[in-house]
Amino acid sequence: MALLQISEPGLSAAPHQHRLAVGIDLGTTNSLVATVRSSMPVVLPDEQGRALLPSVVYYPAEDKALVGFEAVPMQAKEPQDTLVSVKRFMGRGLKDIQTEHLPYRFVDAPGMVQFKLKCGQKSPVEVSADILRNLRERAEASLGGELVGAVITVPAYFDDAQRQATKDAARLAGLNVLRLLNEPTAAAIAYGLDNASEGTFVVYDLGGGTFDVSILRLTRGVFEVVATSGDSALGGDDFDHRIYCWLLEQAGLSQLGGRDSRLLQQKAREAKEALTDKLSTQIAAVLEDGSPINVELTQQTYFDLTRHLVDKTLMPVRKALKDAGLSTDQIDGVVMVGGSTRMPHVQHAVAQYFDKPPLNNLDPDKVVALGAAIQANVLAGNKSGDEWLLLDVIPLSLGLETMGGLVEKIIPRNSTIPTARAQEFTTFKDGQTAMRVHVLQGERELVKDCRSLATFDLKGIPPMAAGAARIRVTFQVDADGLLSVTAMEMTSGVQSSVVVKPAYGLTDDEITRMLKSSIEHAQDDMAARRLSEATVDATRLIEATQAALAEDGDALLDADERGIIDQALQQLSAAIAAQDEARIRQASDEASRVTDEFASRRMDASIRKALSGQKLSELG
Ligand code: AMP
Repeated sequence: MALLQISEPGLSAAPHQHRLAVGIDLGTTNSLVATVRSSMPVVLPDEQGRALLPSVVYYPAEDKALVGFEAVPMQAKEPQDTLVSVKRFMGRGLKDIQTEHLPYRFVDAPGMVQFKLKCGQKSPVEVSADILRNLRERAEASLGGELVGAVITVPAYFDDAQRQATKDAARLAGLNVLRLLNEPTAAAIAYGLDNASEGTFVVYDLGGGTFDVSILRLTRGVFEVVATSGDSALGGDDFDHRIYCWLLEQAGLSQLGGRDSRLLQQKAREAKEALTDKLSTQIAAVLEDGSPINVELTQQTYFDLTRHLVDKTLMPVRKALKDAGLSTDQIDGVVMVGGSTRMPHVQHAVAQYFDKPPLNNLDPDKVVALGAAIQANVLAGNKSGDEWLLLDVIPLSLGLETMGGLVEKIIPRNSTIPTARAQEFTTFKDGQTAMRVHVLQGERELVKDCRSLATFDLKGIPPMAAGAARIRVTFQVDADGLLSVTAMEMTSGVQSSVVVKPAYGLTDDEITRMLKSSIEHAQDDMAARRLSEATVDATRLIEATQAALAEDGDALLDADERGIIDQALQQLSAAIAAQDEARIRQASDEASRVTDEFASRRMDASIRKALSGQKLSELG
């Protein structure tokens, strides 16, 4: 979500018309684009009717890049200049990735690794942008107009840098990003689970190379990712590999050349996919030396060969459930995502583990893109207001300025919206009748390091002693991301409020920078907070003592006593001026000590005064 800023009065959304919006599943292996047509989400195919776009880009020395199917054969011919699985490098530095088995020439660049290519240097953002541009052009050709925006899906565990990189790639591709959406959330939306009022769902995503499991909790239209787990080296490829090894065994072969190896891997994959619908399949191939392979593989043998891989997926499932503190009977539904979930023994194992049939009637390759399209349609404003669904979190904490230039966080970062939190504050001075409410966003402790969003005054507080007024400040962020802040003095009911509205003033770069700086400065910030708190307390002590001295000093203290107190106050003022926390605390302790006696004499005097003229019998 963007920064919250004060709204301009009277600003409202443009009137209704159908706006072209798409959902994009930017995948590691394949990408897809979908839209909502006549209220139905549909995947948009290319001119040849193919839904998937392989996430592969080939960069020739001079000509235009080849994207998708055209680039796939270049992997074998020019591996250094044909980039696959670029999603793995988004927002990652060279130190974050394993480069040993990859054919690329990596260049270490600040923030994100780059590829050295014949045509020059490219970052993963630019490569992803080429994939996204291809999908945008496909969508615009198919829909016959310019897109107002796109929802792009990202894995739930993507961090800020990876999300920012994805967003940058979209902008570079000429796409207006309506929202980045977590992949499991998109899958849940495709199944219409967001229409349930409440529930806990598991998204089981077994693709070609990776396995991800997420647990989502739905409350009042908001999905919260409560746990994620997975295995980044477990997917359909491992199942292919088991068949490949079995084939070698059957043919009595040990080592194969590159071409034969690729051929048998391809055959293994075809056999695997065939065994999803058939009880047995014939695998036939002729190796480079002319020797034939012709074997039958039954579904049962295949299941036996790969059962351990299916079982392996249940380990991260167990871990995610444990992290979320849930048992299988607390799960309301299991959504199947990824081509490999078509395999019957995977379906069976999941059904058995959760003791309920999984949700599998949508194409597991398309479900994420379909969900993203539904969300894009909503965000583009093609649905009526009551169907609004927002699945957002607050990227930076929202808080208030308190005395001493400190920020008190009211709604912590990552809270899902809608949300409301309240906190009580009090007045600082005797007789204070107004209070300035300063709303801020950021992770740092001091006002000057956070972003100011709005300021308003609560006036008409009845005059009371410092600390006696009870001012309740409520922060409320509704499902549209609108923040309203209300301040109310509880004893009198005096109230004041301001509405703060999201504006796209804070770029994600800024958000990332602000988060980073909060981590880097955590120690300094705590020291600054302690100093500021000590200063506030000490100032309050000086003011209270001076007020008491003015009132009763002459009557209750002799000259020596008065001198000691004055000196202690001077020392305290000097310590404040020096901004030395330890000195302020020490001088405050000393000032409290030397004023103790004076305070108790004042107490006695005021009791005497209160009692004077009253009969003993009146004192119940
Ligand atoms: P994804 O990464 O979601 O595109 O999934 C790709 C993986 O799904 C590959 O390993 C495919 O071999 C596998 N896959 C696709 N269709 C089937 C099928 N009918 N049966 C088994 N695996 C399949």
